[in-house]
Amino acid sequence: MRLRVALNSPVDQSNTSGANAFIQNWLNNREHVLDSLLSNLDGMAYCCLCDEHWTMLFVSDGCYDLTGYKVEELLNNDKVSFQEITLEEDRQGVRDLVEIAMESRQRFEVEYRILNASGEIRWVMERGTGIFNESGKLEALEGFIQDITINKRFEHDLKQAEQRYRSIFENTVEGIFQTSPDGRYLSANPALAKIYGFESPEDLIASLNDIEHQLYVKSTSRHEFAELMQQQKRVTNFESEIYRADGSTIWISENARAVRDEKGKLLYYEGTVEDITERKNYNELIEYQATHDDLSGLPNRVLLKDRLQQAINHAERTSSQVAVVFVDLDQFKNVNDSMGHHVGDKLLISMAQRLESCVRESDTVARPGGDEFVLVLSDMSGLEALGQTLQRILTKTAEPCIIDDREFVITCSLGISIYPEDGNDSETLLRNADTAMYKAKEAGKNNFQFFTQELNSALIERLELEYSMRQALIHDEFILHYQPKVSFLTQKLTGFEALIRWNSPTHGLIPPTKFIPIAEESSLIESIGSWVMQTACKQAVDLYKQTGIRLPVSINVSPRQFYERQLVSEVEAVLAKTGLPPEYLEIEITEGTLIEQTSKFIDILKNLKSLGVKLAIDDFGTGYSSMGYLKHFPIDNLKIDRSFVWELEQDSANQAILKAIVSLGQNLGLNVIAEGVETELQRDFLISIGCNEMQGYLYSKPIPFNQIVAHVNSIHALV
Ligand code: C2E
Ligand code: CA
Ligand code: CA
Repeated sequence: MRLRVALNSPVDQSNTSGANAFIQNWLNNREHVLDSLLSNLDGMAYCCLCDEHWTMLFVSDGCYDLTGYKVEELLNNDKVSFQEITLEEDRQGVRDLVEIAMESRQRFEVEYRILNASGEIRWVMERGTGIFNESGKLEALEGFIQDITINKRFEHDLKQAEQRYRSIFENTVEGIFQTSPDGRYLSANPALAKIYGFESPEDLIASLNDIEHQLYVKSTSRHEFAELMQQQKRVTNFESEIYRADGSTIWISENARAVRDEKGKLLYYEGTVEDITERKNYNELIEYQATHDDLSGLPNRVLLKDRLQQAINHAERTSSQVAVVFVDLDQFKNVNDSMGHHVGDKLLISMAQRLESCVRESDTVARPGGDEFVLVLSDMSGLEALGQTLQRILTKTAEPCIIDDREFVITCSLGISIYPEDGNDSETLLRNADTAMYKAKEAGKNNFQFFTQELNSALIERLELEYSMRQALIHDEFILHYQPKVSFLTQKLTGFEALIRWNSPTHGLIPPTKFIPIAEESSLIESIGSWVMQTACKQAVDLYKQTGIRLPVSINVSPRQFYERQLVSEVEAVLAKTGLPPEYLEIEITEGTLIEQTSKFIDILKNLKSLGVKLAIDDFGTGYSSMGYLKHFPIDNLKIDRSFVWELEQDSANQAILKAIVSLGQNLGLNVIAEGVETELQRDFLISIGCNEMQGYLYSKPIPFNQIVAHVNSIHALV
């Protein structure tokens, strides 16, 4: 009976007539079945009056587990009413809700707390509905009440956790982010906005939508970040420089991970950001201090070793040499002891600057300590260049140095070791350079010594030669010889080439091949070149004065002279000074001069040409350039290199080349001259292919000026 009230079964017994036996049987046992069902449910089924006690007419066996009261104790409020069980604070709320539901005849669902028999508060959820009689009057409520304390606790914990995380997210000093793989911000916390210089996270998310280009200073950073993610699923302490909203830059460190779906598809990255600018600056400062000398700002011993090792590695790869130069200031101790540290310090600073000014930017000048400096010169371009650097250091350091209105002159002793000849590692090279420096001290200071004796002598010989060339210029030891050029067609003299010789009081007449290449390695060639130009122009005028005949003179101009001096203005000045008409001066430039500088080369040629002088390409055929460029040059004469003429007899290929050069020259309207013609056979061949002029021993060797005068006079007399 109770059951029927409580369950308000939807199955109408009058409709069971057509049901099969099983159903019939089941229906007959229905009470029993539902009874057992109810007693197995976690919770309490009930039917109660809608009175002030919620008087229970029926409760299922779950009553005890839910409330701690036995069924009988609750039925008809025998011991306790459900109103009393309901926690006082929640009573009105439940009642209001039920009333509203009943008014509209709806089911209700309500969560509230009860006080069970042992005084414990439990959360329950009640679902119920009203039972109305035919006239629509509410007779009772029926429903089900479940203990949801555990769910409630769980929900509460979850909320708490969520709140805790939110508070961390909102309040931490670390930036927190989620970014999409295509470089947008999905979320950001206030700290991140602050680090990046935005007003708010929303502002950041709206403004930054291309992380690769907008955020990172180095545009490859985002790519590196993604690569690391791909390889390791996360990045740790990823340091990068970034732009803040105002365009300033800071350094950050990121820790992040990739979040993927079950199929492994990348959804987003999430992680934290820390501003490490201060630490970075501090580290840099510390590193700078650890690797540099306080006083001079030069690399100290630590960095020196590092740089030297790098130079060695590089030289090993490129099979080049490294020079280690130990520099010791000769009089430093005296100055320091007598004048005090204050002066000594200033002196060291000044020397450091001087040394730096003597070497290339890629070289290292270090101060490992005291009055010692060490230079590491890599990519050495030969002993001569090194010799010049060393010479420069000796000269530069010895220049007077003014400190506190007092003048000091300090010289230095240099010791040099060379990788790989004098050692394979930095220790050995430094030690050997040091040893060599002591040799320099013993040799009387203010000089340099190589660790290896042979290098000493080779370089010293070179430098001595350079020195004597300078002396030769001063003492007028150079002379010009002239070699005549003759026309094949008329057999007449067409001009002379001025060829320099060195008339040394000790070594006799030295040919230009012995000293011009050395002069070309230093600025000496410019002084020598100027001397040649002036002398040749002056003597061409003298020749005219003495013979009454004007003949052009050719001078040779070296590449260095061609590019590094104000050649054009110099030529103009010399012509003006000597009074030689411009068309009587010819400038010979070797083909090699134009390599790599074509446009500058053409400019200079044009400027020379505009002065009215003649231009010739010398040693043609030996350069690597194509013949096609010739047509771009405003030149007059083409001098075929003598090697083609000499090998004419042995090598038929040379005949073909000669033919080709001559016809090329003539097609371009140039006068073609063959040099080094020694035999009649050579001459005849050259005539046969239409060459215009010749120069060579067959006609005359280069001869001194007075012989040229005599020669011209004799021809003149013949005519
Ligand atoms: P270069 O300009 O090709 O000069 C021609 C060289 O060939 C000269 O040698 C000349 O004596 C030599 N020679 C001429 N005909 C014959 C011959 O039939 N047989 C042989 N075996 N040799 C012949 P030199 O005077 O020794 O000059 C050599 C090089 O020195 C010149 O070659 C030129 O490149 C350079 N040179 C000479 N004087 C000067 C100068 O004043 N300034 C510059 N920058 N270089 C110069
Ligand atoms: Ca020449
Ligand atoms: Ca030549």
